[in-house]
Amino acid sequence: MKHELPKLPYELNALEPHISLKTMEYHYGKHHNTYVVNLNNLIPGTEFENADLETIVKKSTGPIFNNGAQVWNHSFYFMSFSPKGGGEPKGKLAELIARDFGSFPEFKDKFSKAAAGLFGAGWAWLVMKHDGKLEIVQESNAGNPLRNGMTPILTCDVWEHAYYLDKQNRRPDYIASFWELIDWKVVEKRV
Ligand code: MN
Repeated sequence: MKHELPKLPYELNALEPHISLKTMEYHYGKHHNTYVVNLNNLIPGTEFENADLETIVKKSTGPIFNNGAQVWNHSFYFMSFSPKGGGEPKGKLAELIARDFGSFPEFKDKFSKAAAGLFGAGWAWLVMKHDGKLEIVQESNAGNPLRNGMTPILTCDVWEHAYYLDKQNRRPDYIASFWELIDWKVVEKRV
């Protein structure tokens, strides 16, 4: 099947001043799009030719995994943003965060530290494990917790291409901007 770059529910300049139009033009328009193009070029003639993206993320290896997981991860990441984002979650997700991390500020601090402290390129994730417990995990490169049977709830891309145009080496400043954009109404539906 042909994989597509998802259409975003906001304009590319709508996340300013937290994430600039320039970053979105490169990150979504070039990096994310290139993973889609690469994946569509790699799968013909392989067992993944007709597989859905989640199956590719769970089962593939090598370049098909790298590009397929990067498509999945970026779509999940960009779809979690809104120009009217920020604040705190409500409902079940808020209850689970309070249960498993003590409070929203404690969760935010722990997640931010996981994102800031991830060495090199990768993704910080909030996941739900089999037992229903929430956990924060770090994944390098294209890593995705679906491969370990966990359910992704929220992710922060800490590859330098996500923030270098806006923040240069100041990854913690990018993470602070990240929180201002989270569309909790979207994220709440994942638990
Ligand atoms: Mn990225």
